[in-house]
Amino acid sequence: MDVLKKTILSEGKVINEGVLKVDSFLNHAIKPSLMKEIGEEFAMLFKSNNITKIVTLESSGIAPSLMTALSLDCDLVFARKRKSLTMTDHLYSASVHSYTKQVTNEIAVSKELISPEDNILIIDDFLANGQAALGLADLVHQANATLIGFGIVIEKSFQPGRQILEDKGYRVESLARIANLSNGTVSFEDATIK
Ligand code: 5GP
Repeated sequence: MDVLKKTILSEGKVINEGVLKVDSFLNHAIKPSLMKEIGEEFAMLFKSNNITKIVTLESSGIAPSLMTALSLDCDLVFARKRKSLTMTDHLYSASVHSYTKQVTNEIAVSKELISPEDNILIIDDFLANGQAALGLADLVHQANATLIGFGIVIEKSFQPGRQILEDKGYRVESLARIANLSNGTVSFEDATIK
């Protein structure tokens, strides 16, 4: 997605060979016009899949998910992050380890918000080691809903997340695929930008 790739090049900050900071449009501030285009792109990719609900993770997954849900005219649920969970009877929950932040969070969603009739699209801001994506998939499976696939805004293709998800048979659609962050610059898998 060219407009996203251009924004990553102009505003992204390479922190080190493994981490890209995109606070100005995705993780701390939000560019509404870009988010609208991201939503339309995901909607185009999944329009024939009868998506009834998007599931994402607070907080950075919410903006792209909301714009996609508007475009697909479907519902949106965001899982919440907790340090530890008590009283979990009414929740589907999973553990998610972040290698980037070196923390493990419990993620949870209220049981009444996902039903077995749902066709779910999972959306997240980044795909790195795939742990957040697997945790979200776990919640969907606990609800016996149908998982249609994953929509990822920025995939770091040099990390194993995509492979892990594809090995499990999941469909993964990423709007920008980063080949590497070497020498302080972002290189995309597909270098062409119109
Ligand atoms: P994973 O579970 O795939 O390893 O990591 C996914 C989550 O970690 C994303 O939801 C995102 O919050 C965070 N993350 C992973 N890598 C990066 C990165 O390079 N930059 C930013 N801003 N967040 C990242």
